[in-house]
Amino acid sequence: MSATIWADAIGEVHREAAGVLTVHYVSGEDGPRLLMESMLGDKRATQVMTAVVDCLRAIRTAPRRKPTLCLCCPRAIRDPAGVVFCIAIPDRPDARQGIGTAICSRCATAPDRSERTLAAFRRVWPDAREIQIAAGPERVQ
Ligand SMILES: [Zn+2]
Repeated sequence: MSATIWADAIGEVHREAAGVLTVHYVSGEDGPRLLMESMLGDKRATQVMTAVVDCLRAIRTAPRRKPTLCLCCPRAIRDPAGVVFCIAIPDRPDARQGIGTAICSRCATAPDRSERTLAAFRRVWPDAREIQIAAGPERVQ
C-alpha cells in the first residue's frame, strides 16, 4: 500500500470516527470468544475478527524484504505466533471500517503496552489521547 493510499485510508477512518476510536487488543486466546460472539450476531466482534484475519493475511503474504512491522517498534513480524492485534474502530455503532495493526510479542507483553500504542497513534494523530468512557476496551481520541 502506497503512503498516499495509506494516508487517505487513515483520514477516512478518522472522519468516520469523528475523533473517537475504540481500540481492541486481540490475542490468540480471544479467537474462540470472538468467533462465538460473531456467530451470535455481535457486529463489533465480526468487525474485529475481520480485521484480525486481514492482518494475518498481510503478515503471511508480505514480501520477505518488506515484512509487516510492529505498530510500536521497528521489529519485523513474519510469524503471527505471540502477536497481539491492535484493532482501532470508530466508536460508533455504524462503523464501516477500522485500522488493523499487529504488535510484536515483546511489545505485546510490555507493561506499558497501552502507552506504546498511544505513542504509535500519535505519529498519525499528534494530539491523540486515551480516554476511558466506561469499563471495557481502551479508547483513543
Ligand atoms: Zn514491537
